[in-house]
Amino acid sequence: MVKYATGYCYEFVTELENKHFGGVFLNQKILIVEDERNIVDILKFNLKKEGYMTLEAMDGESGLNMALNEKPDLVLLDLMLPKMDGFTVCRKIRESSQVPIVMLTAKEEEVDKVLGLELGADDYITKPFSQRELIARIKSNLRRLTMNENAARNGSVLKCGDLAIDMDRYEVKRKDEVIELTLREFELVRFLAMHKGQIFSRESLLEKVWGYEYYGDVRTVDVTVRRVREKLEIEPANARYILTKRGVGYYFNGEV
Ligand code: CA
Repeated sequence: MVKYATGYCYEFVTELENKHFGGVFLNQKILIVEDERNIVDILKFNLKKEGYMTLEAMDGESGLNMALNEKPDLVLLDLMLPKMDGFTVCRKIRESSQVPIVMLTAKEEEVDKVLGLELGADDYITKPFSQRELIARIKSNLRRLTMNENAARNGSVLKCGDLAIDMDRYEVKRKDEVIELTLREFELVRFLAMHKGQIFSRESLLEKVWGYEYYGDVRTVDVTVRRVREKLEIEPANARYILTKRGVGYYFNGEV
Protein backbone atom coordinates (compact mmCIF):
# COMPACT_ATOMS: atom_id res chain seq x y z
CA MET A 1 0.00 0.00 0.00
CA VAL A 2 1.28 3.44 -0.88
CA LYS A 3 1.83 5.96 1.88
CA TYR A 4 1.10 9.60 1.23
CA ALA A 5 2.52 11.07 4.41
CA THR A 6 4.97 13.30 2.60
CA GLY A 7 3.46 13.58 -0.90
CA TYR A 8 0.21 14.80 0.53
CA CYS A 9 0.10 18.51 -0.02
CA TYR A 10 -2.64 20.77 1.13
CA GLU A 11 -3.35 24.41 1.26
CA PHE A 12 -5.71 26.61 3.13
CA VAL A 13 -8.70 28.10 1.45
CA THR A 14 -8.82 31.84 1.20
CA GLU A 15 -10.93 34.18 3.25
CA LEU A 16 -12.81 35.09 0.11
CA GLU A 17 -13.95 31.52 -0.44
CA ASN A 18 -15.05 31.28 3.15
CA LYS A 19 -17.17 34.38 2.80
CA HIS A 20 -18.57 33.18 -0.45
CA PHE A 21 -19.70 29.74 0.59
CA GLY A 22 -19.38 29.68 4.35
CA GLY A 23 -22.94 30.41 5.42
CA VAL A 24 -24.66 28.33 2.80
CA PHE A 25 -23.22 24.96 3.70
CA LEU A 26 -22.81 25.44 7.41
CA ASN A 27 -23.40 22.34 9.50
CA GLN A 28 -23.26 19.95 6.62
CA LYS A 29 -21.85 16.66 7.78
CA ILE A 30 -19.07 14.87 5.93
CA LEU A 31 -18.14 11.30 6.68
CA ILE A 32 -14.46 10.46 6.14
CA VAL A 33 -13.80 6.75 5.63
CA GLU A 34 -10.02 6.43 5.58
CA ASP A 35 -7.57 4.25 7.49
CA GLU A 36 -4.53 6.50 7.38
CA ARG A 37 -4.55 8.64 10.47
CA ASN A 38 -2.51 11.53 9.01
CA ILE A 39 -4.86 11.86 6.02
CA VAL A 40 -7.90 11.79 8.29
CA ASP A 41 -6.39 14.53 10.45
CA ILE A 42 -5.59 16.78 7.51
CA LEU A 43 -9.05 16.27 6.03
CA LYS A 44 -10.74 16.94 9.35
CA PHE A 45 -8.74 20.08 10.00
CA ASN A 46 -9.50 21.58 6.61
CA LEU A 47 -13.15 20.56 6.47
CA LYS A 48 -13.76 22.06 9.90
CA LYS A 49 -12.06 25.24 8.81
CA GLU A 50 -14.59 25.39 5.96
CA GLY A 51 -17.47 25.08 8.40
CA TYR A 52 -18.33 21.42 7.85
CA MET A 53 -18.94 18.92 10.60
CA THR A 54 -16.96 15.71 10.21
CA LEU A 55 -17.42 12.10 11.15
CA GLU A 56 -14.67 9.55 10.76
CA ALA A 57 -14.40 5.82 10.31
CA MET A 58 -11.08 3.99 10.10
CA ASP A 59 -12.35 0.80 8.49
CA GLY A 60 -14.92 -0.19 5.88
CA GLU A 61 -17.37 -1.84 8.21
CA SER A 62 -17.76 1.08 10.59
CA GLY A 63 -17.77 3.42 7.56
CA LEU A 64 -20.77 1.60 6.14
CA ASN A 65 -22.57 1.67 9.49
CA MET A 66 -21.97 5.39 9.92
CA ALA A 67 -23.01 6.16 6.34
CA LEU A 68 -26.33 4.43 6.96
CA ASN A 69 -26.99 5.50 10.54
CA GLU A 70 -25.51 8.99 10.89
CA LYS A 71 -27.01 10.35 7.65
CA PRO A 72 -24.01 12.35 6.43
CA ASP A 73 -24.46 14.87 3.58
CA LEU A 74 -21.48 13.44 1.72
CA VAL A 75 -19.11 10.48 2.07
CA LEU A 76 -15.37 10.61 1.29
CA LEU A 77 -14.47 7.00 0.74
CA ASP A 78 -10.99 5.51 0.49
CA LEU A 79 -10.55 2.33 -1.57
CA MET A 80 -8.08 0.25 0.42
CA LEU A 81 -9.61 -0.20 3.84
CA PRO A 82 -9.42 -2.85 6.55
CA LYS A 83 -12.42 -5.16 7.12
CA MET A 84 -14.34 -4.10 4.00
CA ASP A 85 -12.91 -2.45 0.87
CA GLY A 86 -14.21 0.83 -0.51
CA PHE A 87 -15.95 -0.79 -3.49
CA THR A 88 -18.00 -3.05 -1.25
CA VAL A 89 -18.82 -0.16 1.08
CA CYS A 90 -19.94 1.92 -1.92
CA ARG A 91 -22.15 -0.84 -3.31
CA LYS A 92 -23.73 -1.50 0.08
CA ILE A 93 -24.41 2.20 0.75
CA ARG A 94 -26.13 2.39 -2.64
CA GLU A 95 -28.51 -0.42 -1.71
CA SER A 96 -30.38 2.03 0.49
CA SER A 97 -28.92 5.53 0.18
CA GLN A 98 -28.33 8.13 -2.54
CA VAL A 99 -25.85 10.19 -0.45
CA PRO A 100 -23.11 11.72 -2.65
CA ILE A 101 -20.00 9.50 -2.53
CA VAL A 102 -16.57 10.81 -3.52
CA MET A 103 -14.00 8.01 -3.86
CA LEU A 104 -10.36 8.65 -2.94
CA THR A 105 -8.19 6.75 -5.40
CA ALA A 106 -4.48 6.49 -6.19
CA LYS A 107 -3.31 7.82 -9.52
CA GLU A 108 -2.27 4.49 -10.99
CA GLU A 109 -5.59 2.87 -10.22
CA GLU A 110 -7.35 3.96 -13.42
CA VAL A 111 -9.40 0.79 -13.52
CA ASP A 112 -10.48 1.36 -9.96
CA LYS A 113 -11.82 4.82 -10.74
CA VAL A 114 -14.10 3.49 -13.42
CA LEU A 115 -15.18 0.56 -11.29
CA GLY A 116 -16.02 2.93 -8.43
CA LEU A 117 -18.29 4.92 -10.72
CA GLU A 118 -19.90 1.70 -11.96
CA LEU A 119 -20.72 0.81 -8.38
CA GLY A 120 -22.53 4.08 -7.83
CA ALA A 121 -19.93 6.58 -6.63
CA ASP A 122 -20.70 10.13 -7.81
CA ASP A 123 -17.17 11.28 -8.19
CA TYR A 124 -13.58 10.43 -7.46
CA ILE A 125 -10.44 12.31 -6.65
CA THR A 126 -6.93 10.96 -7.14
CA LYS A 127 -4.32 10.97 -4.38
CA PRO A 128 -2.27 12.94 -3.72
CA PHE A 129 -4.67 15.83 -4.22
CA SER A 130 -4.45 19.43 -3.16
CA GLN A 131 -6.78 20.53 -0.43
CA ARG A 132 -8.16 23.18 -2.73
CA GLU A 133 -9.14 20.57 -5.30
CA LEU A 134 -10.73 18.41 -2.65
CA ILE A 135 -12.80 21.27 -1.25
CA ALA A 136 -13.85 22.24 -4.80
CA ARG A 137 -15.06 18.69 -5.45
CA ILE A 138 -16.94 18.55 -2.18
CA LYS A 139 -18.60 21.87 -2.87
CA SER A 140 -19.51 20.82 -6.38
CA ASN A 141 -21.19 17.66 -5.11
CA LEU A 142 -22.98 19.43 -2.27
CA ARG A 143 -23.96 22.41 -4.40
CA ARG A 144 -25.66 20.10 -6.86
CA LEU A 145 -27.67 18.72 -4.01
CA THR A 146 -28.70 22.19 -2.85
CA MET A 147 -29.63 23.20 -6.37
CA ASN A 148 -31.76 20.09 -6.65
CA GLU A 149 -33.46 20.91 -3.41
CA ASN A 150 -34.26 24.40 -4.69
CA ALA A 151 -35.46 23.09 -8.03
CA ALA A 152 -37.65 20.60 -6.22
CA ARG A 153 -39.60 23.41 -4.60
CA ASN A 154 -40.87 24.52 -7.98
CA GLY A 155 -40.90 20.97 -9.22
CA SER A 156 -42.78 19.43 -12.06
CA VAL A 157 -42.89 16.17 -13.96
CA LEU A 158 -41.25 15.96 -17.35
CA LYS A 159 -42.76 13.29 -19.62
CA CYS A 160 -40.59 11.61 -22.23
CA GLY A 161 -42.25 8.67 -23.93
CA ASP A 162 -43.07 6.18 -21.19
CA LEU A 163 -40.65 7.87 -18.79
CA ALA A 164 -41.73 10.43 -16.19
CA ILE A 165 -38.97 12.56 -14.65
CA ASP A 166 -40.23 13.85 -11.33
CA MET A 167 -38.37 16.97 -10.15
CA ASP A 168 -40.01 16.87 -6.71
CA ARG A 169 -38.99 13.36 -5.90
CA TYR A 170 -35.76 13.13 -7.93
CA GLU A 171 -37.34 10.10 -9.44
CA VAL A 172 -37.63 8.60 -12.86
CA LYS A 173 -40.51 6.22 -13.47
CA ARG A 174 -41.26 3.96 -16.38
CA LYS A 175 -45.02 3.53 -16.27
CA ASP A 176 -45.47 3.00 -12.53
CA GLU A 177 -42.12 1.45 -11.85
CA VAL A 178 -39.50 3.62 -10.10
CA ILE A 179 -36.03 3.39 -11.68
CA GLU A 180 -33.36 3.69 -8.99
CA LEU A 181 -30.82 6.35 -9.99
CA THR A 182 -28.06 8.03 -8.03
CA LEU A 183 -28.22 11.80 -7.70
CA ARG A 184 -25.68 12.31 -10.49
CA GLU A 185 -27.40 9.86 -12.81
CA PHE A 186 -30.68 11.63 -12.18
CA GLU A 187 -29.11 15.00 -12.93
CA LEU A 188 -27.66 13.74 -16.19
CA VAL A 189 -31.04 12.39 -17.30
CA ARG A 190 -32.80 15.55 -16.24
CA PHE A 191 -30.30 17.84 -17.93
CA LEU A 192 -30.42 15.97 -21.24
CA ALA A 193 -34.21 15.58 -21.12
CA MET A 194 -34.64 19.31 -20.52
CA HIS A 195 -32.63 19.93 -23.69
CA LYS A 196 -34.14 17.24 -25.89
CA GLY A 197 -32.47 16.79 -29.25
CA GLN A 198 -29.54 19.04 -28.38
CA ILE A 199 -26.13 17.34 -28.58
CA PHE A 200 -23.64 17.93 -25.76
CA SER A 201 -19.96 17.05 -25.83
CA ARG A 202 -18.61 15.04 -22.91
CA GLU A 203 -16.63 18.09 -21.79
CA SER A 204 -19.70 20.28 -21.70
CA LEU A 205 -21.66 17.61 -19.80
CA LEU A 206 -18.86 17.49 -17.23
CA GLU A 207 -19.20 21.22 -16.83
CA LYS A 208 -23.02 21.39 -16.82
CA VAL A 209 -23.84 18.29 -14.81
CA TRP A 210 -20.73 17.72 -12.70
CA GLY A 211 -19.78 21.35 -12.40
CA TYR A 212 -16.11 21.09 -13.33
CA GLU A 213 -14.42 23.44 -15.67
CA TYR A 214 -10.81 22.54 -15.19
CA TYR A 215 -10.57 18.99 -14.04
CA GLY A 216 -12.44 15.79 -14.38
CA ASP A 217 -12.10 12.86 -16.71
CA VAL A 218 -14.50 12.68 -19.67
CA ARG A 219 -14.71 8.91 -19.15
CA THR A 220 -16.79 9.73 -16.09
CA VAL A 221 -19.49 10.82 -18.52
CA ASP A 222 -19.24 7.63 -20.59
CA VAL A 223 -19.47 5.41 -17.55
CA THR A 224 -22.44 7.31 -16.17
CA VAL A 225 -24.26 7.23 -19.52
CA ARG A 226 -23.70 3.49 -19.78
CA ARG A 227 -24.96 2.94 -16.23
CA VAL A 228 -28.03 5.10 -16.86
CA ARG A 229 -28.80 3.17 -20.04
CA GLU A 230 -28.63 -0.11 -18.20
CA LYS A 231 -31.26 1.19 -15.81
CA LEU A 232 -33.44 3.21 -18.16
CA GLU A 233 -33.49 1.24 -21.35
CA ILE A 234 -35.35 -1.97 -22.00
CA GLU A 235 -32.55 -2.92 -24.40
CA PRO A 236 -29.41 -1.02 -23.25
CA ALA A 237 -27.49 -1.98 -26.40
CA ASN A 238 -30.21 -0.42 -28.50
CA ALA A 239 -30.76 2.83 -26.61
CA ARG A 240 -33.94 4.84 -27.20
CA TYR A 241 -33.57 7.70 -24.72
CA ILE A 242 -29.97 8.82 -24.37
CA LEU A 243 -28.30 8.52 -27.76
CA THR A 244 -24.70 8.83 -28.92
CA LYS A 245 -23.66 11.12 -31.73
CA ARG A 246 -20.37 9.51 -32.78
CA GLY A 247 -17.39 11.77 -32.27
CA VAL A 248 -19.58 14.56 -30.88
CA GLY A 249 -21.34 13.56 -27.69
CA TYR A 250 -24.69 12.59 -26.22
CA TYR A 251 -28.27 13.77 -26.53
CA PHE A 252 -31.75 12.89 -25.42
CA ASN A 253 -33.86 11.51 -28.23
CA GLY A 254 -36.20 14.29 -29.37
CA GLU A 255 -38.63 11.76 -30.86
CA VAL A 256 -39.76 10.15 -27.62
CA1 CA B 1 -6.35 3.19 2.74
